[in-house]
Amino acid sequence: MIDKFGRKIDYLRISVTENCNLKCIYCIDENNILNSCNNDILTDDEIVKIATECARLGIKKIRITGGEPLVRKNIESLIYKLKCINGIEEIYITTNGVLLHTKIEDLKKNGLTGVNISLDSLNKDRFKKLTKFDKLQDVLLSIDKALELGLKVKINTVIVDDINKDEIIDFVNLTKDKNLDIRFIELMPIGAAKNYKGTSNEEINKNFKNIKVENKSKRSGPAKYIRIDNYKGKIGFISPISSCFCEDCNRIRLTSTGFLKKCLHYNYGVDLKKHIRSNISDKDLNELIYSNIYDKPQEHLFMEDCDNKENKYMNQIGG
Ligand code: SAM
Repeated sequence: MIDKFGRKIDYLRISVTENCNLKCIYCIDENNILNSCNNDILTDDEIVKIATECARLGIKKIRITGGEPLVRKNIESLIYKLKCINGIEEIYITTNGVLLHTKIEDLKKNGLTGVNISLDSLNKDRFKKLTKFDKLQDVLLSIDKALELGLKVKINTVIVDDINKDEIIDFVNLTKDKNLDIRFIELMPIGAAKNYKGTSNEEINKNFKNIKVENKSKRSGPAKYIRIDNYKGKIGFISPISSCFCEDCNRIRLTSTGFLKKCLHYNYGVDLKKHIRSNISDKDLNELIYSNIYDKPQEHLFMEDCDNKENKYMNQIGG
């Protein structure tokens, strides 16, 4: 469907839990997560019901996120049910990769198209410092298993000043022999991240000044890509802060508690769980989703003061 600014909306991100098996310092507030563990989240049937109406409105691609989506019980069967919805062509997952190697074969059998794996350090000790868990080996194993199975693999990396800036080239070097893309995502000032200073993609780009790159500058989704000559994978830059891509935004978000969010930055949206549990008809649900998508804000204003800013933490929204 087309929103009021003429953007085609065909991508739904579904957060299936707020819980996570890592505690990344810029993502989760540990006190907050303890409270939110008990939140009443959508059931599989409720998620499928909402996704079905979204598909009727033109959603073609779904991404499952969280919290950590792989800690949700029976995530494999939820993925299968979503993939069976008429109109859904692709289904992806964004994961920290810790549990992925134990589930990936079933996920693929059930229709998963590809995985984005979040990874901010290739150094064991630093990984532990950033995430509070000693799980780097599991993540690396998951990356290799996903590649072995022929899934599309993208690594999402957030570079934070004073923490992991010295690893930029190590991450880039992953694209040399492995058929994966690495994407640098600028840190957005949401939740716990307000306490950290992200490194801009302009600054990261300076690393490529003296390297011969093939410029795949055509944007694919929010990312702009380059490739180093003779390297297998691409290097992507997602720059919500230094180069806003709202004019091409094609997505909406459903939180695990059933709130349909119009934009990452604002708290605008609608509590679909409340309506579903009051037995709203499919037709009325469809209209409610339509009117909310139609009315998506024009752009985020992360760096400005404004009303209705989102106060949730990233693990509650799904990134
Ligand atoms: N647990 C899963 C994972 O780690 O991929 C899914 C949820 S996590 C919130 C999704 C992504 O959001 C991760 O790549 C994480 O690095 C990113 N993220 C969290 N807070 C962020 C922020 N303030 N700015 C940019 N990215 C952020």
